[in-house]
Amino acid sequence: MKKQRKVILLTTLFLVLSIGLYHSFRGRLHPFCPWVIGFDKLETRKAVLYYHADCSTISCLLTIDSLINTVEKTHELSFKRKVEVVVSADRKEHERYSGSSGTFITQPLKGRIYLPYLEEYFAAKVQPLHTYLQHELSHSLIYQNISISRLWGYPLWFLEGLATYSADMAGVEGYPSKDTVWARISEGCFIHPNDWGRFGMPVLGASVKQYPYPDTYYFAYSEFSCMVDDLVRKYGKEKMIKLLHASIRSEPFKSAFSTIYTIQFEDYLSGFHKPPA
Ligand SMILES: [Zn+2]
Repeated sequence: MKKQRKVILLTTLFLVLSIGLYHSFRGRLHPFCPWVIGFDKLETRKAVLYYHADCSTISCLLTIDSLINTVEKTHELSFKRKVEVVVSADRKEHERYSGSSGTFITQPLKGRIYLPYLEEYFAAKVQPLHTYLQHELSHSLIYQNISISRLWGYPLWFLEGLATYSADMAGVEGYPSKDTVWARISEGCFIHPNDWGRFGMPVLGASVKQYPYPDTYYFAYSEFSCMVDDLVRKYGKEKMIKLLHASIRSEPFKSAFSTIYTIQFEDYLSGFHKPPA
């Protein structure tokens, strides 16, 4: 009986360990695994690119260091370690590694970036590819500079707004331009930042559900970037950077906001309905 129990225990342990190892190297736990296996590897001064040899070229990613320099400059922060970018062979593999159906994904802790190999972008649409990568680099930079406890509950509107603003993404492909955002806000379309949720607790609140156009996600990102732009125009870039640094290092976001801008976030929002002059 004792021997039987021991066999069951050892078998269970073996199974749990095997599943854990499989998911660390090949599945959902990949973003947190220190090793990346099964890919070719190419290192630049500031990044490590993982790709498959059958991807005909990743040459357009070789300029990633200049994107990294730009992101560090605009956020006034430095990466703590090399940025890892995993380019999967296709969407299926990408979903398995990143744990998400989104095309460009950055996971917390190490700030590892995942994307599938997209031939049309790698070959011809290099500019939008770089813009999206720059957006992800903003997430990666913040993830490398924030503790998990502070990241948990961090406002998603600011993460996405800052990434979209710093990559100048409004107006690229499906992302509405700033003018379109302001025109829609004047029509009464406004996605409330609180309705987008927090890190680890995403929600789709009333203003998201009531948004009347089919480009909800695109619009939300462009609108949030307009809010960051509005903060910079009204109060200066220095304060926006102070807000970023305080909220990732020492203070909850809303409290940092009211200290730096001497206005409650909700009161600021109620005045956010006209384009900057
Ligand atoms: Zn994003």
